Amino acid sequence: MSDVPKTHPRYLSLTLRDKIVAGVEQGITSIHGLMAHGRGEAFDYLIGETTQPFAIEAIHAAAAMLCLAEHPVISVNGNVAALAPEALIELGQVLNAPLEVNIFHTETGREQKIRAYLLKHGASDVLMPTTEARLSFIDSNRKFVHPDGIFKADVVFVPLEDGDRCEALRKMGKAVVTVDLNPMSRTAKQASITIVDNVVRALPLLCDEIRNFNDSTAQDTLKKYSNAAVLQKALQHISRSGNGN
Ligand code: ATP
Ligand code: MG
Repeated sequence: MSDVPKTHPRYLSLTLRDKIVAGVEQGITSIHGLMAHGRGEAFDYLIGETTQPFAIEAIHAAAAMLCLAEHPVISVNGNVAALAPEALIELGQVLNAPLEVNIFHTETGREQKIRAYLLKHGASDVLMPTTEARLSFIDSNRKFVHPDGIFKADVVFVPLEDGDRCEALRKMGKAVVTVDLNPMSRTAKQASITIVDNVVRALPLLCDEIRNFNDSTAQDTLKKYSNAAVLQKALQHISRSGNGN
């Protein structure tokens, strides 16, 4: 890690950069992931680098959807593995849901490296892509999935997702919960629930919500939830911050 002093005004942001760079150096994160991270940083700047009420609303609904799911699965890519391995593993534990590696760029054994990294951080098991099960409506490497994981899932948690696969999962009738700082991305628009927040802030909050899950109000929460309305609130927030408010 670089020597960023804690007093630096951008300390947290720079720490996350260090984690992504370390991820690339360890072969966990794709070099393309640096660009995805940069895009996320820009949107994080615009939302104020804190969890906003529209994210809290989405986290509340996401907890309900994931807890009511019959077979929830957590999809892991190279960025989220580098940024928040412990929180991902904790989410799997509180939900009793498997983690499954699913990435776009499969250079030099990256899938295996992500798996090993998660196991090293305490994951009990990590599902891997197979050729036995494939997603429809998608041509990239991300179509290869595990038959007992994403293939079977009714709800898939896919932070920092690519729009193509989000669309394919939805077309296959699966519900998608995502975390995406860009409320305008195709993923954000197509997901069932979009948490517009940094994944490092959102994951611990989501774990807390799941721990405090209340079965009697969950259906009602989901009935009232509108992802389009939440994305609209995020966009309004961004445009207000542009006006200095
Ligand atoms: P889409 O394919 O959905 O239209 P995209 O092509 O613009 O999106 P991708 O590279 O496919 O973007 O996915 C990366 C997404 O992840 C971006 O929308 C980016 O804002 C978001 N992102 C990057 N880092 C983070 C982070 N730490 N927390 C949450 N979201 C992030
Ligand atoms: Mg994309």
